[in-house]
Amino acid sequence: MGVFETIVDQIRDAQMVTYDQLVYIFEHIDEEKEQYLYAQARAVAEPIFHKAVYLRGLIEFTNICKNDCYYCGIRCSNPNAQRYRLTEEQILNCCDMGAKLGFKTFVLQGGEDPYYTDDKVCDIVRKIKDRHPDCAVTLSIGEKEYDSYKRYYAAGADRYLLRHETANEEHYAMLHPASLSGAHRKQCLRDLKEIGFQVGCGIMVGTPHQTLKHIYEDFVFMQELQPHMIGIGPFIPHKDTPFRDEPMGSVQQTLWLLALLRLVFPKVLLPATTALGTADPMGREKGILAGANVMMPNLSPVDVREKYMLYDGKICTGDEAAECNRCMRLRVEKIGYHVEDSRGDHPNFK
Ligand code: SAH
Repeated sequence: MGVFETIVDQIRDAQMVTYDQLVYIFEHIDEEKEQYLYAQARAVAEPIFHKAVYLRGLIEFTNICKNDCYYCGIRCSNPNAQRYRLTEEQILNCCDMGAKLGFKTFVLQGGEDPYYTDDKVCDIVRKIKDRHPDCAVTLSIGEKEYDSYKRYYAAGADRYLLRHETANEEHYAMLHPASLSGAHRKQCLRDLKEIGFQVGCGIMVGTPHQTLKHIYEDFVFMQELQPHMIGIGPFIPHKDTPFRDEPMGSVQQTLWLLALLRLVFPKVLLPATTALGTADPMGREKGILAGANVMMPNLSPVDVREKYMLYDGKICTGDEAAECNRCMRLRVEKIGYHVEDSRGDHPNFK
């Protein structure tokens, strides 16, 4: 066994990664070593998840956003984004459709749209839980006050996704306008966890100015936070943003990081994201084979899909929910995994 393999085993056994280990992996990895890393990641996931993949029905319910993140296609200063909001009835219809397809989690994601007051959000959450008491509701609606998060939780929301984007605050400031801070975003995640949510953080891989040092800091932050879910995908430029000419993040590096995350956080829920599937047509399958165990088929009405364009070229914008569902299940089965139609809570929440 070589140095590379020994380091991978050390990371697995210690469930932590040092900066030097991360640098060694990124500098010495080749096709064969990559396979070793992925095999170890699968071996760690196997006894916990038994080759199950969980599906989350994603409902992109508004693309109206008060923020102006430099990477994001629905940033408020993009005049070319055609704005929309789903009505409560449309959102509930999406959930009904998803429930028929077997989904047990609905993810409500959107821009930070002031129209959806806490009252409205709570109302929607309550109605979904009333109609589908066996389903989990995940919110992904950005940075809010502690008391707002408390109200969502009391209304029945189970989980919250809020990628921290980068743990390094100087790097955060290179990706966001001055009105947003990395410190506040991280505080939101701590608040969400304290309130009792299953919490998801995460990063984009290959954002402008990102270094391996930053990625190491992401691991340090996540080791402290101990999130239940970690969403990562390659940065993909959007033509109407300040980062339009920046290079896309690397699919390969995303896969290495998925595998490393599985080694460091064996029980974590780790999606093979849409961005990964956009950057590489087989990206999501490769993600599962590198240790991911969640996929997020799109449940949004087809006529709004094109409008929730966070980055250029986003896949699945033309497919009906039923088609996305069928496609996901086939993809999972083709690589020897199976979709499990349970809520797919984090093992600590069962
Ligand atoms: N308003 C919510 C949802 C944001 S969209 C929030 O603030 O959490 C969900 C995620 O998409 C973001 O957290 C970001 O990591 C990712 N994303 C946005 N633009 C992207 C791009 N150009 N390429 C890849 N991922 C992107």
